[in-house]
Amino acid sequence: MGKKYPCVEVNLKKVTHNAKTILAMCNKKHIDVAAVTKVYCAEMPIVEAILKAGVTQVADSRILNLKKFKELSCKKMLLRIPMISEASEVVKYSDCSLNSEIDTIRSLSKAAKGLNKIHNIILMVDLGDLREGVMTNDVVSTVSKIVKIENIKLIGLGTNVTCYGGVIPDSENLGKLIDLKLEIEKGFNLKLPVISGGNSSSLYMVINDTIPKGVNQLRLGEAIVLGRETSFGKTVPNCYDDAFILKGEIVEIKSKPTVPTGTIGMDAFGNILSFENKGIRKRAIVAIGRQDIRVEGLTPMDNDISVFGASSDHLILDVTDCKKQLIVGSIVEFKIDYGCLLAAMTSTYVEKYYNN
Ligand SMILES: *Cc1c(COP(=O)(O)O)cnc(C)c1O
Repeated sequence: MGKKYPCVEVNLKKVTHNAKTILAMCNKKHIDVAAVTKVYCAEMPIVEAILKAGVTQVADSRILNLKKFKELSCKKMLLRIPMISEASEVVKYSDCSLNSEIDTIRSLSKAAKGLNKIHNIILMVDLGDLREGVMTNDVVSTVSKIVKIENIKLIGLGTNVTCYGGVIPDSENLGKLIDLKLEIEKGFNLKLPVISGGNSSSLYMVINDTIPKGVNQLRLGEAIVLGRETSFGKTVPNCYDDAFILKGEIVEIKSKPTVPTGTIGMDAFGNILSFENKGIRKRAIVAIGRQDIRVEGLTPMDNDISVFGASSDHLILDVTDCKKQLIVGSIVEFKIDYGCLLAAMTSTYVEKYYNN
């Protein structure tokens, strides 16, 4: 049967290779990897390719995805601060969740008691990025409440940076996490075996050997699938950045001016655009659009093709300089960034193919 377009093609061998490379790199520094599966909607062929590399823990932000892992023997972590309304499912489908609210932890406790389980939690600490986590000054008082809650085991501290505020992890902010761990272990006479030092933005510190001693877990999504650390956007050494390729089909190809004719109002998304006059250019329309992708995150594999823009379901390319003979029906290939991958994997209009 012929392929359907648009599609994402995943090279599973490259995914396994990336996971293996990153796992070895982290293990050398005594850091464990929780493989984050949300960006590809926890598609099982990809999850399996990562587990094949020797990863022992998977992490996702949505219960719906964790449910798919029920039969897997690896550890499962819930990444997003749980909703009180999903407390019993959190306990049922994850071994560990990241938390920042006492009321929620109490709900998890009740659910765990009901299921006769102990639920592990990592307390999230906000080190300045201003997404989730208790402020550093409130960590000790929060821990004093958590340790009294039944069926809940506090196994560590965690943080998340470079997500909302764009704060880059460094030895100073991650060092604070280690200081807090030591203070809590002493003050409460308990062990905090897990220090979860962030996401793919923390990986550069493993690469350049500056990650503070004591950080022993990273939660990695993008680094594994796109082979990129996300503090500086560099390719991870010896990793593939093209394990995921987006392909689309040309439905129109015509030479047209670069500046629209008529009075310019807003586009379909409420933006007023300006147009650089490059004269008459050969334009190709690919059948994919903003409902399926983040246009800004596309990079044509052919350097002679560039992106003019897109509406909901039309992507407009400048193919004037393309040396290949493109016609209606030709397939164009793109590398994609995190936002684009997230959208494409989530879109039901984009077909997914897995190559071994
Ligand atoms: C999404 C997420 C991650 C993974 O982020 P990447 O940049 O893909 O590595 C890690 N931790 C939390 C809490 C997340 O929500």
